[in-house]
Amino acid sequence: MEKWGADLYGDPCAGCGFNWSLTPEEAIRIVTGLPARYRELLDGYTGHERHPELAWNPAAYISHVVDNLRHWAEGLAGARLSEATDILGYDPDLLAQARHYNDIAPAAALWSLERAVSAWSASVTAALRHGVVLRHDARGPQRAQDVARNNAHDGYHHAWDIERILDFAGPAIFSPGAS
Ligand SMILES: [Zn+2]
Repeated sequence: MEKWGADLYGDPCAGCGFNWSLTPEEAIRIVTGLPARYRELLDGYTGHERHPELAWNPAAYISHVVDNLRHWAEGLAGARLSEATDILGYDPDLLAQARHYNDIAPAAALWSLERAVSAWSASVTAALRHGVVLRHDARGPQRAQDVARNNAHDGYHHAWDIERILDFAGPAIFSPGAS
C-alpha cells in the first residue's frame, strides 16, 4: 500500500508545516485561496524562475496543482454521479512532461487554476454531503474529507516550493502599480 497524507509527509508536514488535523471546510478554504496566494507570490516575477534542486518552475507547480485538483474533482464526481468509486493513481512527472508544464505561461496556469478550483470546490462540497468514499488502487479507501485535506496540502506544499524557488531567484523586480 502506498503511503499518503500525514504518514507520508509527517504531521505537521516536515516541509511546508501543513497541519493535517484541519476540518474539510478549512481544507476547502485553503484551496479556494490558492489562486490569490500564487498570484501574490508571483508578483514581480516571471514565473519561470528555477531552483537547482527542483525540476519544476513556479508555472509548472501551478499547472500540477490544476491537474491534481481536476483529477480528484472528477473522481469524486464519478463516484457521486455514477457510483464509479474506483480511482487510479497517475504519474505527475509524466503528465508534466506530456503537457510541458515548465513552458506554460504563468498567467494561463493561473487562469486554469481559478476554473479548476471552482469545479473542485463544487465537487468536494457535494461529495462531502453525499459521504463519498473512493477506492484508490494504491492508497485504499479515500473519503471525501481525505481528498479535501490531501488536495489542500498539495496546493499549500507547492506554495512553499514556489517560495523556495523565488527566494533562490532573489528579490522581485519592480512592478508598476505595486504598492
Ligand atoms: Zn507539505
